[in-house]
Amino acid sequence: MSLPTIKRVLLKLSGEVLMGNQQFGIDPEFVAELAKEVKAAKDSGLEICLVIGGGNIFRGMAGAAKGMDRAQADYMGMLATVMNALAMQNALEQCGVPTRVQSAIEMDKVCEPVIRRRAERHLEKGRVVIFAAGVGAPYFTTDSGAALRAAEMKCDALLKGTSVDGVYDSDPKHNPDAVRFDTVTYDRVLADNLKVMDASAVALCRDNKIPIVVFSIREKGNLARVLAGEGVQTIVQDS
Ligand code: UDP
Repeated sequence: MSLPTIKRVLLKLSGEVLMGNQQFGIDPEFVAELAKEVKAAKDSGLEICLVIGGGNIFRGMAGAAKGMDRAQADYMGMLATVMNALAMQNALEQCGVPTRVQSAIEMDKVCEPVIRRRAERHLEKGRVVIFAAGVGAPYFTTDSGAALRAAEMKCDALLKGTSVDGVYDSDPKHNPDAVRFDTVTYDRVLADNLKVMDASAVALCRDNKIPIVVFSIREKGNLARVLAGEGVQTIVQDS
């Protein structure tokens, strides 16, 4: 299995990669490094939509586990994703990449609302579009937001840049014998509950035939390698 030609991509970054080596929050130096990788991908001719998680700041599930109302905590998580989006917009613009943030929770002092046709126009004009606040509803994650935006923006692939270098048959942090897949089908991911993305995100990608590429964004230059079909990654698609 290999990837189709990619012209437009949805890049999903976990919030935790913005922490760099910190335990919490945003490391501006690391965000600047990430922005350089995004710029290189854009300079290679790609149209780029970005979705950034919020786990470096707040996750609704963690709040709920400590007694908070889940929906309230999830809205806080969504707000965290807007902060990350603004940090990435700042870093991208500092390296000369015009960028627009569109949030699923309207916040017109700091960003645009999500308007698909306007996002299309931004991409045509060579801007990177960062979609913030996930799907704008609690009980979802930014993985579902990424799958939704990838579908509506007709992206050729969803690249999930995270701290692990692909999808394993069991958790590599707990099982030293865990085996990484080079490729795996959507149905296997769902049936075996493999940790890639939420089931709703995987199903949305499957139904819209959007390949998911899981790779580590922590290693410098990895985004370019993955886009060139090299490097370590797992591709989730139909067989
Ligand atoms: N969230 C939500 N709805 C969405 C997207 C995000 O409620 O559509 C909340 C949820 O609480 C989630 C948090 O925002 O835990 C941060 O997003 P996520 O956990 O996906 O971040 P990541 O793990 O990618 O850093």
